[in-house]
Amino acid sequence: MEDLIKIYDAGVVGAGGAGFPTYKKLNAKVEYFIINGAECEPLLQTDKYIMRERSEEVLLGVKKVAEIIKAEKVVFALKKKYQYEIESLKKAQEKFGIDLDFFLMNSIYPAGDEQVLVYEVTGRTVPPGGIPLQVGTVVSNVGTMLNVYHAMEGKPVIRKLVSVMGEVNNPLLLDVPIGISIRECIEAAGGSKLDGFHIILGGPMMGMLISSEDIDSRVVTKTTGGVIVIPSDHYLVYKNKLNLQHMINQTKSACIQCSYCTDMCPRYLIGHPIRPHKIMRKIGYSEEIDESFMDSLICCECGICELYACPMGISPRLVNIYVKNKLREKKITFKDDKSGPSEIGIREHRKVPVERLLTRIHMHKYDVKEPLKIKAIKTDRVSIPLRQHIGVAANPLVKVGDNVALGQLIASVNYGDLGANIHGSIDGVVVEIHDAIVIERKNSGVMSC
Ligand code: SF4
Ligand code: SF4
Repeated sequence: MEDLIKIYDAGVVGAGGAGFPTYKKLNAKVEYFIINGAECEPLLQTDKYIMRERSEEVLLGVKKVAEIIKAEKVVFALKKKYQYEIESLKKAQEKFGIDLDFFLMNSIYPAGDEQVLVYEVTGRTVPPGGIPLQVGTVVSNVGTMLNVYHAMEGKPVIRKLVSVMGEVNNPLLLDVPIGISIRECIEAAGGSKLDGFHIILGGPMMGMLISSEDIDSRVVTKTTGGVIVIPSDHYLVYKNKLNLQHMINQTKSACIQCSYCTDMCPRYLIGHPIRPHKIMRKIGYSEEIDESFMDSLICCECGICELYACPMGISPRLVNIYVKNKLREKKITFKDDKSGPSEIGIREHRKVPVERLLTRIHMHKYDVKEPLKIKAIKTDRVSIPLRQHIGVAANPLVKVGDNVALGQLIASVNYGDLGANIHGSIDGVVVEIHDAIVIERKNSGVMSC
């Protein structure tokens, strides 16, 4: 309990995904604790850096979490090509005598999807629409482990490691205060090589595409893992700009019902009853969304169907997002009709290699093989969102004009609520409060480490 309070106090959330509050996730007793070091999205190097350079802190975080959730088996899952990282983690394991197994995977996408990872490691299928806890498992990202370690030392989450890549002059890793603007991150990487560009916040498959005009409203949060600059005429920009009605029309006229989208769907391949080709067939006949579209609710939006499988350039992912929103409006929830595939042995032959995927999505040229250099940067202004996590927004504890110190609690949630505390990431004065707390200070500078 005392440890969970420390994690709650520090505002730790899942660093690799949607930002589930960690103290809530760890309030459990499980058979398996899986540490996710698979770095799910192609190109990014943030987790690799953490495993390579912060291996001791990560493993001490792992040890603590394993104690909290009384895990019977602790498994560190990462890609077998991460040789330096494996070496570094094994040294730390030996130094601290930590009892865990390594699970080494091929370089496939989406290896780091929580439910795919559980299947790979345990052979168990998380129930569709469910969570790993239902099969006795907790999965947590390596960045979260680092933050748990710091939480035990009484240090809150106020900085974030971010890979800045693509069409920038010096691709690198940045160690930044939470709330720093994305534009400053791009400038710290030598600026964009292009005049007109878009950015992907996150990874190329599931990240959010943002035009250069909208960058100034975007900041680094506790879950930001990457910033990728791409040309405005890039294939991924074109795919993202397709409007839904156009896509539905295209589905009606061009879907050949080959079912490749289903055959390659990672969730279908772990036994879930999702068949995107059937959803496409239905929407081709009728745009009236009802319970018969329910399978869309268990789509994880990984993008395999859209960017890898479909030979006709159609996007089942986009259609699923549309359908999900409609179903939620109608308050239709997922009910498992147990119609998932009975034979999933074929899965081994349908895994998607990351290298091939990068070529398919025209991102291969941005793949930096050697470890990126790291730079820590300061800023004189941060805008720290009150909701950077799943659950309720934090309530401000400061007002405009207040002086705040680095690491001070500036917004909180009640213990027990689904949410996370927020702390000041620079010293300064509160100048605005809306859906974020904006802090400014006079002096700024850049330092390398
Ligand atoms: S892969 Fe494309 S063409 Fe084939 S069924 Fe799916 S949406 Fe239709
Ligand atoms: S995005 Fe496509 S491939 Fe991925 S889970 Fe959804 S339907 Fe399956």
